[in-house]
Amino acid sequence: MIPHHVGPTRAQALERLNEFVPRMGAHYAGRRNVDPGIEGRANVSQLSPFIRHRLLSEEEAVSAALIVHGAEQAFKFIQEICWRTYFKGWLEHRPLVWRDYVDARTSQAALLEKDASLRADYETATAGRTGIDGFDHWARELAETGYLHNHARMSFASIWLFTLKLPWALGADFFLRHLLDGDPASNTLSWRWVAGLHTAGKPYLAKREAIETCSDGRFSPRNLADRPRDIDGTGNPPPETITAADPLPQKPFALLLTEDDLSIETWLDEHLDVEAVAGMESASSRCADDVSQAAREFTAGALADGLSRAALHFGVPETNLSKQTDPETALFDWVGRLQVKDIVVPFIPTGWARDRMAPLLRKLRSEGFIIHEIRRDWDDAFWPHTRKGYFKLRKQIPSVLGTLGLAEGLKTDG
Ligand SMILES: Cc1cc2nc3c(=O)[nH]c(=O)nc-3n(C[C@H](O)[C@H](O)[C@H](O)COP(=O)(O)OP(=O)(O)OC[C@H]3O[C@@H](n4cnc5c(N)ncnc54)[C@H](O)[C@@H]3O)c2cc1C
Repeated sequence: MIPHHVGPTRAQALERLNEFVPRMGAHYAGRRNVDPGIEGRANVSQLSPFIRHRLLSEEEAVSAALIVHGAEQAFKFIQEICWRTYFKGWLEHRPLVWRDYVDARTSQAALLEKDASLRADYETATAGRTGIDGFDHWARELAETGYLHNHARMSFASIWLFTLKLPWALGADFFLRHLLDGDPASNTLSWRWVAGLHTAGKPYLAKREAIETCSDGRFSPRNLADRPRDIDGTGNPPPETITAADPLPQKPFALLLTEDDLSIETWLDEHLDVEAVAGMESASSRCADDVSQAAREFTAGALADGLSRAALHFGVPETNLSKQTDPETALFDWVGRLQVKDIVVPFIPTGWARDRMAPLLRKLRSEGFIIHEIRRDWDDAFWPHTRKGYFKLRKQIPSVLGTLGLAEGLKTDG
């Protein structure tokens, strides 16, 4: 199955989940690193575009794996889901790293305008015309499908940085232009990890043999860099404190959704006193250049789907602000029609949606609206363990799943 051809709906997410659940155990653990190519890719879930927009939550994917396979067999899959949680929590503790990426992207994009030779190399790489086996295929696969296997992403980023010696933030930006699962935390921090900026002094150097094995023998690139180079970028700042989430108001409120959480009906009770629901997505702000049509359509479709389900759940009218010519003005028109002053917003993590929404939320506050940013238990339970390295979080997975009430599978097999 190719994600590109998949509808951005919760129904599709659940269908894909059900299809993949039987392979979430030993099969996934043993085969997940291999990428047999689009046609034979049954060993990884391809759930990321859904989970990234929370058309399906991390908790739902983990529960399904635990129920069907038990803790021991499902642990590899759960660990991978927790990489997403780790990156998200880590970036939330260090929003400066996101700022640094945005600044690096701006200055590197300006270099492209000035340096014709760099521009030519960049265009050759993004068009998949370098002559490097594997790399060219992945550049085209990304543009055509909006998805790459994790190992292909690692190899692509490494070749971009160390063989082609291209600027790192432009590579991250190229991914965000096309990935249906494009995510500020997973993408920025994975690129920083390959570059040796996230785990200082430990870059990921792609090697021919590893690519041969992980591509199931499809690719065997020659003349790859045999050593990494130092990549310009700031180190990791100390973690900041994450602001506590707000409780739900004890009075009627309106609900404002973004692309970061689109299955609100799975965690808010239908009997809550909701007056209306609106939604606004920011996919066009993802990258410096034009975002691919497929990526924009996936996010727009996901928002429309999430909004309709929320409206149905609470039995209230929906307003898709992103469908209006000027969504910002439409937001203020919408709040102007509300009877309530309290607006609940599922937490918007650090990234382009936060960059766009934060000033709007500030303006709403200054106009007398009370904004309540609520957060899922999953994030609140895991994020305190995301201040340092991933392995600190990994150790805590069983106990955190226990506090979330997902310990049954762990007890049975663990
Ligand atoms: C350079 C680079 C850039 C990346 N950019 C993104 C991005 O923008 N958005 C994104 O969602 N992921 C990104 N990843 C992480 C990872 O490659 C994808 O999440 C994964 O390949 C999605 O495919 P899947 O759903 O088939 O994964 P599966 O192997 O089936 O894993 C199940 C789920 O676990 C999570 N997961 C698995 N591996 C990782 C990982 N390494 N990091 C974070 N979460 C993971 C995803 O939610 C995934 O859906 C990037 C990785 C690299 C190396």
